[in-house]
Amino acid sequence: MPARPGRQFLQVPGPTNIPDRILNAMHRPAMDFAGPGFMDIAIECFEQVKPLFGTEGEVFFYTASGHGAWEAVYVNLFEAGDTILMPETGRFSLTWGEMATSFGVGIETIPNDWRTAIDTNALEDILRRDTGHRIKAVLAVHTETATGVTSDVQAMRAALDAAGHPALLVIDAIASFMTTPLPMDAWGVDVVIAACQKGLMMPPGLSFNAVGPKALAATRAVRTHRDYWSWDARLGMEQYRRFCGTAPEHLIFGLREAITMLNEWGLDAVFARHARLAGAVQAAVGEWTRGGALEFNATRPDERSTSLTVVRRTDGGSAEDIRQAAREVFDVAVGGGLSHLAGKVFRIGHMGDLNDPMILGALAGIEAALVQTGVAHESGLRAATAYLATTAPKLTTRDNRVIT
Ligand SMILES: *Cc1c(COP(=O)(O)O)cnc(C)c1O
Repeated sequence: MPARPGRQFLQVPGPTNIPDRILNAMHRPAMDFAGPGFMDIAIECFEQVKPLFGTEGEVFFYTASGHGAWEAVYVNLFEAGDTILMPETGRFSLTWGEMATSFGVGIETIPNDWRTAIDTNALEDILRRDTGHRIKAVLAVHTETATGVTSDVQAMRAALDAAGHPALLVIDAIASFMTTPLPMDAWGVDVVIAACQKGLMMPPGLSFNAVGPKALAATRAVRTHRDYWSWDARLGMEQYRRFCGTAPEHLIFGLREAITMLNEWGLDAVFARHARLAGAVQAAVGEWTRGGALEFNATRPDERSTSLTVVRRTDGGSAEDIRQAAREVFDVAVGGGLSHLAGKVFRIGHMGDLNDPMILGALAGIEAALVQTGVAHESGLRAATAYLATTAPKLTTRDNRVIT
């Protein structure tokens, strides 16, 4: 295939755009990972990543995809025969739950229509009825990447507290990390799982367990076969144990730069930027839906994610046609539907290193695909542009005039 001019817009919900600063930070020779040069960088990252999670607990780094960090939670916290409660949110909660089954861990769930957030009243009811405290933990996906729905973590904490239930609260924040606030200590979350290739703007390969004191105490009482994933074994400062083998040096170089960039922006500004860009996407999709052929997958507006927007095709045609036209013809890569949403939805990722013209360009490319594939819609570009214009800071000129 001949090279295509320009860049393809990467609007899948992970991996996301890698800023040049991060790529450049990784462009350096390998070094002795036991020497002081690397050790200082690694120690800096272990410390500096904690405020990103909002924790004073321990953050464990795995040279693994998010699935590895999922598995780490199981082997550190649960024995075969234990019971956990995992509310259904979509494809990601199901896959994470299947993993529990393969470890012999029993799962209770709260069924879900894949269009709404976790029902925290139902959660509270189940916990209240569990008077013998058989349920060891509540495991929940914060932003479900298959559906574009974000659940309310504070309401989950409140449900546990209202029921007086001692279960641990474990949150998969892989899609929401650095796009949506989740200050784990302040919100009473015991474990947060994250990975680096979404809001953290890095190439895939590094994932995290952020672990609070209650979960760290719990792991010591759990007898499972574990070594590579073991939290306990990774404690202590010896680098080789911290990484359990050769450190993924270049990912650590990239991580250090990612943390620097996030701190330059400020986390509040990062969250506000994601909310605003999501608002622009939602403004456009809202217009698209007026044609009668498309819908938001997330039925309740306040549950729509700041990380991605999932659009449902309802006119009987395949959402894959739109996705393929967007990618192959208009150079905008969006995600497809997963499991029973395959062919029914496409997913617009808007996490990580993005700005206004990138979002507008992506929306325009997708809209061109709607035109080309003959999907009934109203144009959303005017609404997205107006949304960005009215929510942007005003321009102050060099001679101090404010342009409104
Ligand atoms: C991407 C994602 C995962 C899986 O992460 P991998 O790095 O692909 O293993 C898990 N949960 C959620 C919510 C995700 O968005």
